Amino acid sequence: MTDQRTGRLYINGNWVDSASGRLLSVHNPANLEVVAEVPDSDERDVDRAVAAACRAFESWRWVNPSVRAGHLHAIGQRIAESERALAESITREMGKPLSEALGEVRKLAKAFHFYAEETTRTFGAIVPNEEDGFTSLVEREPIGVVAAISPWNYPLELIGWKLAASLGAGCTIVVKPSEYTPTSAIELFACLAATDLPAGVANLVTGAGETGRALVAHPAVNKVAFTGSSDTGAAIVKTVSGVKPMSMELGGNCPMIVTEHADLTGAVNGALRRSFRNAGQICIAINRVYVHASRYEEFVQRLASAAEDLVVADGLVKEDADMGPVANAEILQKVERHVDDARAKGARVLCGGQRPAGLESGYFYAPTVLADCTQDMLVMHEETFGPVLGVAAYRSLDEAVELANSTPAGLAAYVYTENLTATFALGRRLDFGNVAVNNVDAGIINAPYGGRKGSGYGYEHGREGLDGYLQLKHLRIRHGA
Ligand code: NAD
Repeated sequence: MTDQRTGRLYINGNWVDSASGRLLSVHNPANLEVVAEVPDSDERDVDRAVAAACRAFESWRWVNPSVRAGHLHAIGQRIAESERALAESITREMGKPLSEALGEVRKLAKAFHFYAEETTRTFGAIVPNEEDGFTSLVEREPIGVVAAISPWNYPLELIGWKLAASLGAGCTIVVKPSEYTPTSAIELFACLAATDLPAGVANLVTGAGETGRALVAHPAVNKVAFTGSSDTGAAIVKTVSGVKPMSMELGGNCPMIVTEHADLTGAVNGALRRSFRNAGQICIAINRVYVHASRYEEFVQRLASAAEDLVVADGLVKEDADMGPVANAEILQKVERHVDDARAKGARVLCGGQRPAGLESGYFYAPTVLADCTQDMLVMHEETFGPVLGVAAYRSLDEAVELANSTPAGLAAYVYTENLTATFALGRRLDFGNVAVNNVDAGIINAPYGGRKGSGYGYEHGREGLDGYLQLKHLRIRHGA
């Protein structure tokens, strides 16, 4: 980024310097060049941002919902006008091909328009009383100041869901993006700054884990909205001060079941898309596939041959590449560890299994299909978060369900079957917050999206995504009428 905003925080409606004086470097994973240097905010910065959000809350909470909706529409509009700059900042700092980054930005704009509409549909209830002359109202009120902490894999959407829903609800917010992807967040806040959103309603502090820790520990924060790894989620639960609502969107390790009655072409295409899109760095990525023994060999051969054809490239140079690099060295090491572990335990490497030739300048890894996997292999029970897929055969639906449910992950599961009984049996028995049958798009903006078990709690998307920023009040009035 060459913009003057780089190196500044957005607090109380202004771009301001950090008190810390420390900077974090942001790298392009396709070539390891430094993209930007941004402040590594300290407790003083966090305190300033939270104080601004507290002040703004006192007026924002009373702003008419239709006016708040207008602000959200204006932000959505501004995002659409800036889509190229936003998308380029995503690709430059985390590597997904530009065409995918543009898709993310368009969905981000859509989220603002969706929550603008939901904002005007926020209302409570009237509850009958046993005694005459009383009326009970149930009102929905904003929770207060939200601390939003996000990861790098969908650097804008995962901020946007929290930002749009909390502002729509009447909350104010302090956002801390991932240290790997702060520049797209800065571009997004430039969009907010270009609208007439009141000062202090939305604030941005950049930094790493310590900044996040200071934010969630701040006593004036009323709600923590977190998306990230299960380990960080567990740490945050211990860090928050006092008792406060939290939403935890944590890691996956998502299974897919392909039954003997599946449309194999659909299943192969689905696995290809949901395992290798964003280089497998999706919380709802398919990490492991269980295929009925009668279809197993055909499935793995067709999948490996399709995966081999995927185009891996620098997504700024080749905008429509299928896959860019993985986002950082940590992910690359985890991918290599999972592949080495599977290989050592007897998996067949049908394609990939190494860094692609000619792309040594960045964190590239070839799309990898591992066959004959067993449940003790890391790829089958731990989130890889990279372009690696483990496949195993099963013989009965009971066995498939048991294998799919056997890890702590509870975010999303996928099923391919043309059999109605299997559709319902699997749909109901899979212990996941999202189950997609004969498709791999488990999240849509107007349906609740959330995990269970080790994948966390709380919902984003849908009406429920807004409800997470609201609290109920029972207002019982004795009026005598
Ligand atoms: P991460 O947990 O390492 O970091 C996420 C954020 O938490 C970053 O902003 C980081 O700076 C911050 N952080 C780190 N330590 C902290 C602390 N002690 N207190 C407060 N904040 C702290 O995760 P990541 O590597 O950025 O993202 C990948 C993970 O996110 C994967 O596990 C993935 O499955 C998960 N994820 C989940 C969903 C979902 O909807 N369930 C969506 C996307 C990603």
